Order: sequence, then C-alpha cells, then structure tokens
Amino acid sequence: MNIIGKKLLDQIGPGILKTAQFFCSFPCPFCGVKTDGINNFCLDCLKKLRLVKGTRCPGCGGALDGVLELCTKCIEFEQRPWEGAFAIFELRGLGQQVIHRFKFHNSPELARPLAILSKDILSSSNVKFDYIVPVPLHWSRCFWRGYNQSVLFCEELGRFSDIPCSRMLRRVKRTRQQAKLNRDERRKNLLNAFDINLKAAVQGKTILLIDDVMTTGATLSAAANVLKEKCSAQVYILVIGRR
Ligand SMILES: [Zn+2]
Ligand SMILES: [Zn+2]
Repeated sequence: MNIIGKKLLDQIGPGILKTAQFFCSFPCPFCGVKTDGINNFCLDCLKKLRLVKGTRCPGCGGALDGVLELCTKCIEFEQRPWEGAFAIFELRGLGQQVIHRFKFHNSPELARPLAILSKDILSSSNVKFDYIVPVPLHWSRCFWRGYNQSVLFCEELGRFSDIPCSRMLRRVKRTRQQAKLNRDERRKNLLNAFDINLKAAVQGKTILLIDDVMTTGATLSAAANVLKEKCSAQVYILVIGRR
C-alpha cells in the first residue's frame, strides 16, 4: 500500500471501526446501554445482580454464609426433598427488579438473557439431567399474565443446554399467593396443588426443577415431592433468584 493509501486508512479506519461497533453492539436487556453481545447484561448490571459464586448451599443454591453445611436461611427448615440446588443470583437490589419486570411487566424477552446466565451453572455441575421441568402456574394465572415465566426460562435453558424441557407437572389447584402466608399456611395452601401430566410422565429420571424465585421453598418442595412419589425421580432445583 502506498503512503497516501495508508494515511487515508489511518484517517478513516477508526471511523469504520466505530461504525461497525455501533451496528454490532446490542442493548443490555435490562438497562438498554450498549453491550458487545446479544442478550448479554451489561457489566454494570452484572455487577449489581449479585450472581452466586463459590460453594452453594444444597438447600437453596445460594451462597454459603458460614461454616455449616447449609446457609443460615435454610438451617431452620426440615430436610429438603431435592438432591442439590442452584440459584443464579441473590434476590436483592437489581435482581429483585429484573424478576419483577420479567413476571409482571410483560417482558418475556428476559427469559433468554436469564437462561444465558445459568449456562455455566449447568456446565460446571457434575449431574447429567434428563429433563428440565418448570413449576407450572395455574391456568387462570397464566391467562392473565399471558405467559408462565418459568416455562419460558426453561425453554431457553433447554435450547442452550440440549436438555429437553418437559411439562411433566401440572397445577391442579389455584392456590393463594404464597407471599401473604406464614410457613404453615404456605404448606397447607400447596397440599395437592400439583399432579403429574400423564402424557409427559417418565419414570426414574434425573430432573432439574425450575422456578423463578425461591423464598421458603414450599412451592418447590410440593412440586419435587410429586415428582419423587409419582415418577421416582431424582430432583435438583434451579431458581433464578434466591430471596
Ligand atoms: Zn445493563
Ligand atoms: Zn440455603
């Protein structure tokens, strides 16, 4: 290349690069600032999301906060019916806002970026899951919301992990909102709330049960127990946010 050509390239090169970056960057799915990958949260949002790292509590999948086998939130609960647990982030600060938007603000597009966040969790666990199963909503709640956020998340996760997503559970009772109840009421509220979808039921499989949020774990316990009793399943759980 001659000297004139090189000078020209030096002058327009950065401009071309900037233009390419402009067209190849994508908005953060939460705050909208430009990021370098499609469906990636930006670095600032990632920092505020409090992703769970290190050794996880087997009760809730959150971070272990002491020397005991379970975290301080789980220690007061009886034995959980699952083999292990994973949570993507702690439900404080930004995590709370992301989940709220995903559930209540008609934002199904958040399913994919949230599923991307859990890819590493699955690849670093030594468990081979046969199915990913979402905790179902009662049809009436699904009707008003327009979608079940756990199902959408499951489908995206299935796409990334090559684990089939199965609607093995169905909700047979419309329960009151758990958030307004105490621990005993929560358990009673969920009695016989779930059953097996006979068309999708399989026996003796290892299942990753998915819900958006875990508070006391009562909903996940009720769902996991049905999978264990009626499908002899080995159950692990994955939640997006741990409260
Ligand atoms: Zn952001
Ligand atoms: Zn825990």
